[in-house]
Amino acid sequence: MAEGATPKVVVAGLGDTGLLVATRLGRDFDVVGVSTRPALVSGQELGGRLTDPARWRRTYLVPYARVRKLDRIRTIHGRVTTVDLDARTVSVERSDGAEVTESYDVLVLATGATNGFWRHDRMESMADIDHGIEAIASQLRAASSVAVVGGGATGVSVADNLARTGRSEVHLFHSGDYPLPGYHPKVRAWITEVLRADGVSIHPDHRALLPAGFTGDKLTTGPVTWSTGQEPFTADCTVWAVGHIRPHTDYLPDNVLDDDGFVLVDEFLALEGYPDVFAVGDLAATDPHHSSARNWGWQVVLTNVRFRLGRGRRRRRFRAPHYRWGSILGIQAKGMVVAQPTGRRFRIPRRTAESLLMRVFVTRYLYGGLRDEAGDKSVPSRP
Ligand SMILES: Cc1cc2nc3c(=O)[nH]c(=O)nc-3n(C[C@H](O)[C@H](O)[C@H](O)COP(=O)(O)OP(=O)(O)OC[C@H]3O[C@@H](n4cnc5c(N)ncnc54)[C@H](O)[C@@H]3O)c2cc1C
Repeated sequence: MAEGATPKVVVAGLGDTGLLVATRLGRDFDVVGVSTRPALVSGQELGGRLTDPARWRRTYLVPYARVRKLDRIRTIHGRVTTVDLDARTVSVERSDGAEVTESYDVLVLATGATNGFWRHDRMESMADIDHGIEAIASQLRAASSVAVVGGGATGVSVADNLARTGRSEVHLFHSGDYPLPGYHPKVRAWITEVLRADGVSIHPDHRALLPAGFTGDKLTTGPVTWSTGQEPFTADCTVWAVGHIRPHTDYLPDNVLDDDGFVLVDEFLALEGYPDVFAVGDLAATDPHHSSARNWGWQVVLTNVRFRLGRGRRRRRFRAPHYRWGSILGIQAKGMVVAQPTGRRFRIPRRTAESLLMRVFVTRYLYGGLRDEAGDKSVPSRP
């Protein structure tokens, strides 16, 4: 870095975590953000996205042109194809086909992971995003019976939200005794009661056989077969939420990845041997649940990037709770229930959740204020 020059930070991936990091660092540094999409397409609340896409989009689909804090950073619609950690350069294939190289003083890796049709690393335009959301939602609207395979937070959220619409018969298949592996036992028992009360037929101890080469990245219509010996099951439509996570890290050398392709990081979320490179979110091998996105990893990265670039006095360590936590079902008629790592739960009344949480906390605090007018005309503005 030339003396007196503003340090340059490249953020690879502008999803749930990358966007938060880039918008905060833009105040002090020359920031370049690279993303395969022209919008934040959040990985959160899949159940809401499938059953009430219009409401989901208001909070979770945000064209970058609406994010005021992105005005001060340069965004590139493109894919990171290689990173040279010694030369400190990032190669990007732009959406118009051009190849560009960006040098960096600090690099933040936040390109996430694929774990179903709703999270991927394909290059998309706004029209592609709109089409994908509507195509899946209308497929589900047309189904009178739906099988959801996978008992993690995503499968549970999809099954429960679908059942609450009353439009279809919903079956949830999961391995083990209770859904929500990784959550506190009390949360697992509670969610089982909620699912039943909302009309979901629960099928424990079912482990699905995925056809060769199929990763669960689309809805299917044929019978689902089980390695656990039960009869095949056929619904009008099957949603796969089996948690086969594939981190988006093909552009990195093997020596910074674990055996499953997640980025190896230390407690400060920096790469071993590369203190100017940080990783956060679903691609980072932070803890067994790769949970740095929801456990405030982006704030840890902000503090440590500032420290590294001489703008902070101390570093911050990342710590993850033993059990997963969060809102599993999103906002419902009676509000939003948040399950804690201790097994306790609290409910935020619907009005408060919609006004204080979504509009004030998420829109104003997390996103830093959004323009009402959509940058892209295909996206409705916030009411
Ligand atoms: C504040 C907050 C609260 C949360 N609360 C909950 C909760 O209550 N319940 C819950 O289940 N989860 C919650 N989560 C977590 C969430 O479900 C996921 O963990 C999160 O979406 C992962 O974020 P990410 O940035 O790692 O990946 P993503 O949001 O998937 O972003 C990755 C981005 O990188 C792009 N990309 C991929 N490859 C490339 C490439 N080669 N070049 C350029 N761009 C690329 C992708 O297109 C995508 O836009 C929360 C997360 C946050 C930040």
